[in-house]
Formats: sequence, structure tokens, C-alpha cells
Amino acid sequence: MVIAIDGPAGAGKSTVARALAGALGFTYLDSGAMYRCVALLSLRDPAEKPAKLAGAASIELGGPGGAVLLDGEDVSGAIRTPEVSRQASVVAADPGVREALVAKQRALLRSGDWVAEGRDIGTVVAPAAELKVYLDADPAERARRRAAELGADARGVLAEQTLRDERDRSREASPLRAADGAVTLDTTGLGVEDVVARITELAGAARG
Ligand code: C5P
Repeated sequence: MVIAIDGPAGAGKSTVARALAGALGFTYLDSGAMYRCVALLSLRDPAEKPAKLAGAASIELGGPGGAVLLDGEDVSGAIRTPEVSRQASVVAADPGVREALVAKQRALLRSGDWVAEGRDIGTVVAPAAELKVYLDADPAERARRRAAELGADARGVLAEQTLRDERDRSREASPLRAADGAVTLDTTGLGVEDVVARITELAGAARG
């Protein structure tokens, strides 16, 4: 079974997807971490085409303690900087990068049970997913959540987030949108547990 969770930055996707996967005994796929890996590679090697970097990269998401391994290097911390966040939404607009990473994601999803999270899981990567959820929340609340996580100033986070959401929504290649048949959940004012409980209910119904 595949549960697809898409939505803008700070909607709670990672926290919810990780908790949900744990509760259901599914594997968690953080597709954003893959775009972040390609962003890191392209910041390190700006002269190389991002699509080529994406095609050649070995990205392992389930390293020790959930570490992200990029060509064997633990980049779990390095891919979470504001600079990499910004660059991720830039390389993610490149159709060649998307093609390479979507292929890697589909290969993973071919066997087993997954909670897969990103921007295009329900629309492109796994349109046949048994359950598709679009998580959203008020922009100011999303920025507050991320600022608290990062220990940063909420106003700065909101400005960065607005730019990144705009790039993700307006790009030609697989723009962020709710997939056909997706259940939209607005998580404004809801706790993680409430959201996980709601999706667990939906998953039970989707499984029949
Ligand atoms: O989810 P996360 O914030 O880690 O994603 C980083 C960036 O990667 C997003 O802003 C988006 O541009 C890109 N992304 C994407 N498609 C996905 C996952 C992430 O375009 N499935």
C-alpha cells in the first residue's frame, strides 16, 4: 500500500508522515531529501548540470538512525540549511532532475508499504496510491512551526517560505497541487496526533 502526502513547506508533512509510518509499520519516503541532495551537489559543483548530478548520485534515505547518505556521505545535517532549502526548489524545477529522482522513487515504491511525502507524489510519482492526502495550513502558522524547529526568526522564515512555495506552485514541471482524488486536510490549529489519527482512519477505509 502507498499513502501519498503532498503539500507546501511547513504543512507538517514530514512529522506526520514519519509518525504515520511508525504507527502503521510502513516505510517512510522523504522525497524532498532527494531534491535537497541534488541541491547540495549543485552548490558544491555549480558548473555541472543538475540533471547529470541527479542521475549519477547514489542517495540512500534509510541510513543508520534514519540518516541520509549521499554517495556514502552522511548529509543529514548538511541538506537542512536555508541555502540548500532555497537551492532545492531551484533544481526541482529542472525536468531532467525530476525525471531522475522520480525514477528512483518509483523503484523504491514498487514493493512494500510506504508513506511517501513530497510535492508530486499523488500527481506524478504514485498516482495510483491507495490514499492521497494534501496537507495544508495557514502560511503564518507554517512559518511559525518551521521557525520553532530551526530556532530562527518567523518573519525571515515566512519570506523564504513564500518564495519557495511560489516557485513550487508555478513551475511547469510537476507543480505543487492537490492530486485528483486527494483528501485535503487543513492542519491549522491541529496537533500532530490529530492529523495522524485522521489519516489512519482514512487509510483503514482505503484498505477496505
Ligand atoms: O519537502 P522539502 O522541504 O524537503 O523539499 C525541498 C524542496 O524540494 C521543495 O521546496 C520542492 O522544491 C522540492 N520537492 C519537489 N518534489 C518533491 C519533494 C520536494 O519538487 N516530491
